[in-house]
Amino acid sequence: MPPVIHEQKVDWLMCHKCGSLQTVIPVSADFELHCGQCGHKLHVGHGAWLDPASALALTGLILFFIANAFPFLYLKIAGFSQGASILTGVVALYEHKAYLLATTVFVTIFAFPLFEILVLLYLLIPYRLNRRLPGQITLFRWLVRAQPWSMMEIFLLAVLVTSVKLGDMARVIPGVAMYAFFALVAIISASYWLVDKRNLWSWLHFNNCFTQVDDEPIYDCHICEAMIGESIINQSGHCPRCNARVHKRIPNSLQKTTALIIAAIILYIPANIFPIMTFHTFTGTREDTIFSGVVELIAHGMWAVAVVVFLASIVVPIAKLVILSYLVISVRKKSTSALHHRALLYRITDWVGRWSMIDVYVVTLLTALVQFGILGRVEPGGALIAFAAVVVLTMFAAHSFDSRLIWDAQKGPSSSNMSLLNKTQD
Ligand SMILES: [Zn+2]
Ligand SMILES: [Zn+2]
Repeated sequence: MPPVIHEQKVDWLMCHKCGSLQTVIPVSADFELHCGQCGHKLHVGHGAWLDPASALALTGLILFFIANAFPFLYLKIAGFSQGASILTGVVALYEHKAYLLATTVFVTIFAFPLFEILVLLYLLIPYRLNRRLPGQITLFRWLVRAQPWSMMEIFLLAVLVTSVKLGDMARVIPGVAMYAFFALVAIISASYWLVDKRNLWSWLHFNNCFTQVDDEPIYDCHICEAMIGESIINQSGHCPRCNARVHKRIPNSLQKTTALIIAAIILYIPANIFPIMTFHTFTGTREDTIFSGVVELIAHGMWAVAVVVFLASIVVPIAKLVILSYLVISVRKKSTSALHHRALLYRITDWVGRWSMIDVYVVTLLTALVQFGILGRVEPGGALIAFAAVVVLTMFAAHSFDSRLIWDAQKGPSSSNMSLLNKTQD
C-alpha cells in the first residue's frame, strides 16, 4: 500500500525560474513578492481584486461579440470598397489552402481569447458566490497553459502596421469592431493580471503542500505552485492539487531545446529566402521577402513601422536563437558565472518571442483586405508558413528550457528541503 499523502497549508513559495524555496512574509494585500535569488516576480497582490476582475471579464465577453460580429476594417481604393471582419483573414488563408496558417491564426486570435474570457467567468463568478463547480481546477490549469498563446495584443499591433502600410495606396477606415477590439485587449489583459492566482488556487483546494515522508526534498508545480514531495513525483508524477504533470526538472530539457533550436534555424533560411507575400496589381507582380518588406517601408518613409517590423521579424528571432543556444551551452558547461545575468536573459527571451507573430498577422490581414481583382490582390507566400513555424518552434524551445538548470550549477541539482527551511525560519 502506498504511503498516505500528508496535505498541509504552508506559507512558502518556490521560485519556478530558479527552484529556490522562500518564506512568504506577511505584507499588505497589494504588494509584489520577488524571488530573493533570481529576481523573478513570484506573486502580485491587488487588494480587492475579485469584483473588478469579474466585471472586466464580463465586459470582455460583450466586447468579444461586438468585435467579431461587426466589420473590423474598410479599405477604399479607386471607388471600390472592401470590408473585413476579424475572421475574414482566416477564411482568406483557408481559401488560399494555407490550412495550417489559418488554424494558427484562428486559435491565437479567436479560440484562445474566447476560452480565456469564458474560463475567467467560470472561475470568478462562482468564487464570488462561493460555489464550487465541476471542472474548475482542470479549466484553470488549461487557462494558465493557454495564456501565452492568446495573442490579441500582437494582432492589434499588426492592424496598426497594416493600416500604415496600406496608407499610401488606399484609405483605411476603422469599423466599430476595431474600437471594441482595442478595448477588449486592454480589458482582458487587466482582468487576467488582476486575478490573484494564489488566492484562487487556495479557494479551489485549501492545501498547497503535499508530502509522504517527513523532511523529504520538495519541488513545485509550475501551474498551481503547490509544493510536492520528491516521493510523490517519483511515484505518480502528478500534482495532487491541479493534476498537472510535475518534474524535478523538465526531462531532457537541454536535448529538447537543442532540437527545437536546430529545427528553427533550418526553417529560418526558407523563411527569409522565399517571398512572404505576392502583390498582384494591373502594373505587374511584386514579391516581398521579410527583408525587402522592411526596405520597402523605409523607402516610403514609414520609419516607425519599419523599425517595429525589423525588430519583431528579424532581430527577435535571431536574438532568441542566439540567446537560447548560449544558455544551453553554458548549462552544459556547468558555468557558474553571470547567473543573474543569464536568468534575466531567459526571462526576456521567454517574454518577447511571441511578438514575432506580427508579420504573420500583417500578411493575413493584407490577404483578407486587398482583394480587388484586377486592381490589386495579395497572396500569402511560401515563406509565411516557414516563418510562423520559426516563431512557434522558438516559443516551444523557450518553454522546454528549464531555467532552474542555470542555478543548479552552483549547488548541484538538489531541491530545497523543508527541515533546512525551518532552520532558517528560527
Ligand atoms: Zn528565483
Ligand atoms: Zn499543481
